[in-house]
Amino acid sequence: MTYLKILERNMIIDADRLPKEGLKISKDFEFFSEALVEENVVFLQPVHSELTISKVGEEILIKGKITTRLSFVCSRCLVPFEFPVDSRFDLVYLPEELDAIKDQLEDDDLNKMYYSGSKVNIEAIVLEQLNLVFPTKPLCSEDCQGICPVCGKVIQSGECACETKSSDPRLEKLKTFIRDKR
Ligand SMILES: [Zn+2]
Ligand SMILES: [Zn+2]
Repeated sequence: MTYLKILERNMIIDADRLPKEGLKISKDFEFFSEALVEENVVFLQPVHSELTISKVGEEILIKGKITTRLSFVCSRCLVPFEFPVDSRFDLVYLPEELDAIKDQLEDDDLNKMYYSGSKVNIEAIVLEQLNLVFPTKPLCSEDCQGICPVCGKVIQSGECACETKSSDPRLEKLKTFIRDKR
């Protein structure tokens, strides 16, 4: 088994040993929910990734896509809902040495990421990209009515009768305000 193959098993790629045309990887990852920035997330299936890694000059280029299905908890009504992920990315990594002279780099280079040595950890990159697609406030639907501030029931389920009493638009506004502060 070659050195590259052994590294690949651990999902650490040595960029100096890539084939000229780049290395294609197709792999499923199973992450722990604790690795995610968002709380109360449940994986409904493993994260599938398709990546192409190549080195051009000193730059490591990683093109790829990740797909999976997650279960989120709505930030308004607190009901779990399914969140499909189908995300593409196109990353450029520069050698770490350049990080030290950042000030002298062109603006265009500032948003780029850096690698040390010649190793790239695929698993870490997939996890990072997954975390990036998460909404700051997950919602089961854009017009989710959330929870009734009076009775505490989910308004959408129709179980709550309180809403009919509050036809005053000023009160409606206040309700939305309270909801969004949660
Ligand atoms: Zn909701
Ligand atoms: Zn109510």
